[in-house]
Amino acid sequence: MDHSAQRHGYKAYLTPVRDGRYSSKMIIRARIVVTIDGAPIENGSVAVSGNRIVDVGRFDDIKTRNAGDTVDLGEQLLLPGLINAHCHLDYTCLRGKIPPQKSFTDWIQAINAAKAKLSPKDYVASINEGFEEAKRFGTTAIANLTAFPELISQVQSPIRTWWFAELIDIRALESANELVDAAIESLGRTAPWGLAPHALFTASKDLFRRCGEIAQREHILLTTHLAESREEMEMFRDGAGPLYEFIKSIGRPTNDCGNETPLGLFVGAPPSTSLRTGLGRALPRWIVAHLNELTESDFDLLERSNSKFHVVHCPRSHKYFGHSPFTFERLRSLGFNICLGTDSLASNESLSLFDEMRAFQKNFPQVSPEEILRMATVNPARALRYENPLGQIRPGFGADLVAVPCSTSTDEFEQIIACDAAVSWSMVNGNINWMLEE
Ligand SMILES: [Zn+2]
Repeated sequence: MDHSAQRHGYKAYLTPVRDGRYSSKMIIRARIVVTIDGAPIENGSVAVSGNRIVDVGRFDDIKTRNAGDTVDLGEQLLLPGLINAHCHLDYTCLRGKIPPQKSFTDWIQAINAAKAKLSPKDYVASINEGFEEAKRFGTTAIANLTAFPELISQVQSPIRTWWFAELIDIRALESANELVDAAIESLGRTAPWGLAPHALFTASKDLFRRCGEIAQREHILLTTHLAESREEMEMFRDGAGPLYEFIKSIGRPTNDCGNETPLGLFVGAPPSTSLRTGLGRALPRWIVAHLNELTESDFDLLERSNSKFHVVHCPRSHKYFGHSPFTFERLRSLGFNICLGTDSLASNESLSLFDEMRAFQKNFPQVSPEEILRMATVNPARALRYENPLGQIRPGFGADLVAVPCSTSTDEFEQIIACDAAVSWSMVNGNINWMLEE
């Protein structure tokens, strides 16, 4: 395969008809189809009608049951499109620009300095570049946090995008309500959307509470960064450390520091915490990134909590910062839905979820490749409340598919995780939007 001849264009074979649906039918054949819904299918194929999968099985059976032209992908593995559960495409242009720092607080200051040099035009270019890269590496859906919701209308996403407005009111002159209203004004023109109060140390309780209220009312999703670094733990639990000092120096009140862990503050223990009512009601709507730093009392809290949020682990960003080991097994045994994300390229090298799955596998070799693939397909689909139409190859599901070359390895899931180049082919919502030319 000639990788120099990559085609970057958006290739739409399916023309939407006037009512917004699609009229074309096709049968996609591959050496192996990994549905995730059941065992991999040798000489498998998927029948697609418009933007939906209508049938899946062995090629001979599918061919007799369905109409449409055959697209034969040959010696390829066909799988559901990957879903990135946590990303900031704003910072794609910062790849390699911020070397690992001595502390998390130093990194915050370094990224702030880098951001000060970027214009809205730079951010639009950065987001577009990020989308192209994510698409090339088989990502067909993404939860993307943007600090600039007003720029969304200038971007045409080639994949399914959940836009989250990242909100910080640490230095804001407006009230939390005004900040959220302005973000919704920009987000309202896109769908689906959500809100992302950045973190407990940059977003006020009022802001968290307001986002929780909106989520209940509008049925949207929420995401935040929680318990990411040792310094965040030190700040809230001990009222000390570099993050505490930095945050204090820029004028944030510190009356919530020196008492509870970040998770304690977020989930709302002890019951007197005013945050409890704001967040507690909306817990299942939260997609929580990181959760790297948890104490035994935090685990008690998680065990006692009836409603569960979703957790995103970003293995390479985790390694870049040198956080405490991620407690995957403990969180999984408590029933948390754990997804993978790339985070931004200000703390990672690529937007490939294959790279992310391999990094995870290196740290957790005992976890099966099938389970790892689920963390980039079924699990994030569930976190995004799209577990019915996305994340698997099943009749009735959205036609989001990607193909990677078959290798000599016998385990299909292992072969998928080993993919270290652009995918051979991909389809999003029934449109073929990426292929490597022969
Ligand atoms: Zn992040």
